[in-house]
Amino acid sequence: STTTLKTSDHLRHVESMSTLPSGAGPISRLNAVILGESLASEEDHLVFPSEAFSMQAHVPSPQKYLETYARSIEDPAGFWSEMASGFFWKERWGPQVYAENLDIRKGKINIEWFKGGITNLCYNCLDRIIESGDGDKIAIFWEGNEPGFDGTLTYKQLLARVCQLANWLKDVGVRKGDAVVIYLPMLMELPISMLACSRIGAVHSVVFAGFSAESLAQRIMDCKPKVVITCNAVRRGSKIIYLKDIVDAALAESARNGNPLDVCLTYENESAMKRESTKWQEGRDIWWQDVVPKHPTTCAVEWVDAEDPLFLLYTSGSTGKPKGVLHTTGGYMVYTATTFKYAFDYKPSDVYWCTADCGWITGHSYVTYGPLLNGATAVVFEGAPNYPDAGRCWDIVDKFKVSIFYTAPTLVRSLMREGDQYVTRYSRKSLRVLGSVGEPINPSAWRWYFNVVGESRCPISDTWWQTETGGFMITPLPGAWPQKPGSATFPFFGVQPVIVDEKGAEIEGECSGYLCVKSSWPSAFRTLYGDHERYEATYFSAFPGYYFTGDGCTRDKDGYYWLTGRVDDVINVSGHRIGTAEVESALVSHPQCAEAAVVGVEHEVKGQGIYAFVTLVESVLYSEDLRRSLILTVRNQIGAFAAPDKIHWAPGLPKTRSGKIMRRILRKIASRQLDELGDTSTLADPSVVDELIKLVDC
Ligand code: ATP
Ligand code: MG
Repeated sequence: STTTLKTSDHLRHVESMSTLPSGAGPISRLNAVILGESLASEEDHLVFPSEAFSMQAHVPSPQKYLETYARSIEDPAGFWSEMASGFFWKERWGPQVYAENLDIRKGKINIEWFKGGITNLCYNCLDRIIESGDGDKIAIFWEGNEPGFDGTLTYKQLLARVCQLANWLKDVGVRKGDAVVIYLPMLMELPISMLACSRIGAVHSVVFAGFSAESLAQRIMDCKPKVVITCNAVRRGSKIIYLKDIVDAALAESARNGNPLDVCLTYENESAMKRESTKWQEGRDIWWQDVVPKHPTTCAVEWVDAEDPLFLLYTSGSTGKPKGVLHTTGGYMVYTATTFKYAFDYKPSDVYWCTADCGWITGHSYVTYGPLLNGATAVVFEGAPNYPDAGRCWDIVDKFKVSIFYTAPTLVRSLMREGDQYVTRYSRKSLRVLGSVGEPINPSAWRWYFNVVGESRCPISDTWWQTETGGFMITPLPGAWPQKPGSATFPFFGVQPVIVDEKGAEIEGECSGYLCVKSSWPSAFRTLYGDHERYEATYFSAFPGYYFTGDGCTRDKDGYYWLTGRVDDVINVSGHRIGTAEVESALVSHPQCAEAAVVGVEHEVKGQGIYAFVTLVESVLYSEDLRRSLILTVRNQIGAFAAPDKIHWAPGLPKTRSGKIMRRILRKIASRQLDELGDTSTLADPSVVDELIKLVDC
């Protein structure tokens, strides 16, 4: 509504920003900003895009953003209809573009977009692009674990492969609305499987191929798929992982619980394992290579309603048991495509690489669907980013002339720790836009990414969003406005973030609080699979009238948004509310600190004390001096009240398989509740926890 718009802070601030003379010495300002040591606070650092970049950008100025944003809020139906009209709809949606109830007090939570519109996501990703004349353009550059092992698929070739699998799926009885579990590494067969499902209206549930048999079994029992698609084994770095063994164990577990499965399609991944050595269950297991290629390379599309389910995906499990998030077709299509185009300033000549695995939402929206919907060329990488060494990413960037590179802060920090030489060895001339997702990116990691990797020429899109949101919510638009290292900047078109206090009242202006969203956007999740009550309780009950994100957030004096971590992680020290992200960033800015994770512990005097787990840079040794110097860094950057009470040396930190720090486990260690660590099944490396426990009193 218009009233919201008028009072909306970020708009007012961008308005005032837009009065900055556009060409007013951006370069000298830029240099001062990025070279300047410690200015008063992070928030004062502005990093300007070059004029050349802005001039070619989809959104070249704050004014342009402002106009478009205003329109998207004043007339969501008109704005999103226009975005949607770029896609193929067999039948246009009904008179009501969207319907929503986000207010639990008014009844059942309900979100619908483009209801009555008939379309197909796979058709829009492939057939539509081919019909536009780009059939011979490369859709996927695939890079294997071993350097030199690679492959490509054009849009036409990809469609043929997708159709063969879609035909096989139909042959074994998979119908519209049936679930298919996909447990594959980053082979081309992974996006192929997703697309084949969407072509026939089946609902895919991709499970990251690093999850244990138990986690996989849980997910299989939850959605009861007709088919599981996997491969026999995969090489990741120097390790071989026997995926089929894990699937066998999961299927046995599922059968024991009354959910037997008839069909397990297994891709023979020869580079890791020959079929002769693969364990096999006759009657259930089928080799992909034996059946799929025999099917026709064309397959009629199953036309579905915009509100028909597209996929089911579990959250990362950073804060507890993963939630089965359900996304539908039409709104998801329109939103992922639009955000991809604008947040990366995507142009047809770009080569795009997102390092995320398709087992996470990032891999769904921004490896598979968003890029293909834009007719983009994307890199799919099977291996580990530090194999054979820490230069692999830049080797791949040079090899495929990658221009948009999108990754997670955890990788940025780990590469930063290895040293610049692994980066500067490669040209990286093709890079134009960088991206970050998954956690707040610490300003010091941001600067390294910007200065060293991007040679100060590539804007960084620090995209804040969630499995639940389906697409970017708060994100820079490259070239549109100056950035502040560590801030996700402003909301995307159509998104109305609000910051509320404990009572759920919206706070205006410069403030900190709970991040909520006020109205729906096309790719919002519609439910938690099979548990609408949990959906309402988890996301819509804490602050009635809003979608509650679970994240804390600060809006600064210029209207920029800063994500401060999960609200469960906010620490209250003698009445000061301190975001874990803030203290961690201060620690990581210390030259000898590689990574840090901060949690609150009970404190007799202060209420809560600050407990910091610190991983040091390669080959630096622990010492009392270093401990003092780390604490001093926090005192200087934030203030004495934020100084850690305890520093716990950490050879490694417990992380989810998507690379996020699991603070809930660290909280238990910090408070010495060592026998209450809870669900650790989504941990990437459980042995990290034992190491931490050993160092409890060092
Ligand atoms: P679970 O909900 O099961 O605990 P999760 O929240 O880690 O798992 P995801 O949906 O993968 O699962 O992650 C979304 C969360 O990641 C966000 O709520 C936020 O805390 C964090 N996040 C993602 N991107 C950013 C970003 N650019 N800046 C800050 N935080 C981010
Ligand atoms: Mg979450």
